[in-house]
Amino acid sequence: MTDQFRVRQEVLDFKPYVAGRSIEEIKAELGLATVVKLASNENPLGASPVVRKAIEAAAATVFRYPRAGNPELNTAIARSLGVASERVIAGNGSDEIIDLLVRGVCTPGRDHVLAFRPCFSVYGLQARVAGVEFRQVPLNDDFSFPFTALAEAANEDTGIVFVTNPDNPSGHTVQAGELAELARALPERTLLVVDEAYIHFAEDMAAVSPLGMLDELPNICLLRTFSKAYGLAGLRLGYGVLPAELTQYLLRIQIPFSVNILAVQAGLAALSDEAFLAQTLRTVKEGRAWLREELSRLGCAPLPSQANFLMFTPPVEAAAVVQGVLERGVIIRPLTSYGLANHIRVSVGTMEENRAFIDALEQTLEVVS
Ligand SMILES: *Cc1c(COP(=O)(O)O)cnc(C)c1O
Repeated sequence: MTDQFRVRQEVLDFKPYVAGRSIEEIKAELGLATVVKLASNENPLGASPVVRKAIEAAAATVFRYPRAGNPELNTAIARSLGVASERVIAGNGSDEIIDLLVRGVCTPGRDHVLAFRPCFSVYGLQARVAGVEFRQVPLNDDFSFPFTALAEAANEDTGIVFVTNPDNPSGHTVQAGELAELARALPERTLLVVDEAYIHFAEDMAAVSPLGMLDELPNICLLRTFSKAYGLAGLRLGYGVLPAELTQYLLRIQIPFSVNILAVQAGLAALSDEAFLAQTLRTVKEGRAWLREELSRLGCAPLPSQANFLMFTPPVEAAAVVQGVLERGVIIRPLTSYGLANHIRVSVGTMEENRAFIDALEQTLEVVS
């Protein structure tokens, strides 16, 4: 493609991450005054007022570099989880921790990364750009996890196995004990990374997260983020809970100051604001149940979900539904980039946003059917 510049083959071949479309983009394209975005699983309540105050208070300090390794934030995260702070590594979104894990653990040309198909695209993207092979095991037809097949696909060269729980885009969720069993079934030196981006939205968080079993499972890592339940997607803050030795290695190779000074203060404030988190979870759980009923009423088939979104198949062509709903001012997520041409994902919004979506969907289905 380019003769002028030297560009790595992995970069020439790279197909980048496909993001949900933005409100501004759609307003301009369709000439709409108001647009509702239910495409990226963001917090329907926005950012907590406590967090906004903390960011304003920290604004005057942005000329300083953050404190190296953000120890105050790591300590607060560790305390909130009841784990040793040596296990915690914060990053510029949990996406950064995914990238650090792949680059820190896998040797290009020898090791590979393993995940389900479909899965969150960042696992494969960061593996490929690092020159690490990405292998996938298909999910069951009902989007449940074939853990036996996954364990059988792993061998001594499997550096990392990624599992998303609750899963994106399906919302499927497994119990902590099943993850523990998988971790034990993998080769000793293979890491099981459980991406818990949506764990707060589960019906029983303690039953589905292996957080309480970390000491018995030496090869397990957890990823969490402030982007969803804490409403800080645009600020970029996530973290990993890893074996302490691995955390120390990844800290060595992390870009200096990748967690910025506002993110540190916002993260501390977010952890302190339990009322906002509780209100978020109430809003999402109520909205999820309501949306699920409404989708069924309209002849769509939503899957059971323990996340802040629902995946469904409409009774007519999915692309036409996404477009029809968009023209009525609601952005939802087509799943063609996940290889799911007949499925759609919708984030749970405020009750008003949920109603706007259902109205737009109902009108669309009347026209399209
Ligand atoms: C949203 C999401 C993340 C979070 O990414 P951040 O970089 O923390 O914003 C991670 N994993 C999955 C599966 C997600 O859907």
